[in-house]
Amino acid sequence: MKLKIPMLAALLATCAPAQMKSVNPTIKKIVDSVSEERVGEIMKKLESFQTRDLFSEDDSPTRGIGAARRWIFDQFSSYSPRLQVRYDSYKVKKKGRIARDVDVHNVVAVLPGKLNPERQFIISAHYDSMAVLLRAMPQPAIGGDVPATDAYADLANRAPTAPGVSDDGSGTAAVMELARVMSQYEFEKTIVFVAFTGEEEGLIGSSLYARKAHQENQIIDGVLNNDIIGTEVSGNGRIDNGTLWVFSEDPNDSTSRQLARYVQEASERYLPSLKIDLIFRSDRLGRGGDHTSFNQEGYAAIRFTTPNETYANQHTETDTFANASVPYTTRAAQANAAALASLALAPKAPVTNEPIARGPRKGQLTPMIGRGKSRYDAALRWKNENPEPDLLGYVVVMRRTTSPNWEREIFVGNVTEYTFKNVSVDDVIFGVKAIDRDGNESLVSPYVPGPRTKTEIETY
Ligand SMILES: [Zn+2]
Repeated sequence: MKLKIPMLAALLATCAPAQMKSVNPTIKKIVDSVSEERVGEIMKKLESFQTRDLFSEDDSPTRGIGAARRWIFDQFSSYSPRLQVRYDSYKVKKKGRIARDVDVHNVVAVLPGKLNPERQFIISAHYDSMAVLLRAMPQPAIGGDVPATDAYADLANRAPTAPGVSDDGSGTAAVMELARVMSQYEFEKTIVFVAFTGEEEGLIGSSLYARKAHQENQIIDGVLNNDIIGTEVSGNGRIDNGTLWVFSEDPNDSTSRQLARYVQEASERYLPSLKIDLIFRSDRLGRGGDHTSFNQEGYAAIRFTTPNETYANQHTETDTFANASVPYTTRAAQANAAALASLALAPKAPVTNEPIARGPRKGQLTPMIGRGKSRYDAALRWKNENPEPDLLGYVVVMRRTTSPNWEREIFVGNVTEYTFKNVSVDDVIFGVKAIDRDGNESLVSPYVPGPRTKTEIETY
């Protein structure tokens, strides 16, 4: 049963939100609607194209990257009339691993938000695949599979089949299944479902997409990228279907790190059987993913991936459906669903930095936090233009500087400033998030000072 608004407000005013994290029935329904059967069918279908190599057949109705792309487009189009489906296409010149001039086509499905359509969350994966002939298999250097020489750059080394079921048919299946489920609902923010291409040639499709988004000043509040979420068996014999890795770039209070913390909390709220391991790194050692393209354009973006891979199957003809786990992929998709639905239903995050008004650093952003009149307090301010009509108020979060995750949450009401008496701003990191009447929480906006500007000293 849904709590009546005044009752929930009273509850929030009397106890810490951390003790009453509630389940939103809509989000639970979305998570529960993610179908293992559907995820498995998509993975099998993607395998059936035999290869989705960027340089494979484009015109065949049944084989190669062109057939796969058209099928994904048609599937997106069939899920709901509310999904706006399009190709995001570019002509890319030969260079490095891009063995010849090539047309690349990302497949994009947009579910427009009802309240703040200009604010977007993206869920992505790459539908292209690659397999290298065993004789040309690059020798691993560090981190498992980094080629000492780039055998990938030579088309003659490509294998005739590149099933790519785990890399990254699994991620693509998650994106497609979430497009199907979530397009049956309405959200405040816009959700964009993207199947990228050219990932294997160096994040081509995502780099071009992110660059364009930045040039157009698009507001992307977060990107959930899924790459290799299809296996639970490691080549060294380790088996674990209960853990999912989430990578996020440094520093520790980057927007990507806040997104990772949010995802862990939301996912473990709705899917407590799956442990989300936050990895405080941008990606696995020496390996890449499409989230990085967004990081490089200044957007918050994280990567979901399995801790358990069999490297002998990666980028070979044995990355097959038979070697993948549909139940694991489905659970990873459900983790995405919990986080994505929470984010898209939540209020926008408050603003905790403002431009400096005067002086040599005029215009630079500075956190709106100080020591108050006493000089011994923590005095926080924040801004929130055009707050959502169902906004309940704000939660201040705190942690010690050495702690990886937020440790305390304090609901302070519908105010835009709050002072903690005798709390030092020096040994605590603060952040603020917005919360609505249904308990939906925004991302945390932290208070983090920028680097100190170097003092230019003249000597004589
Ligand atoms: Zn991949």
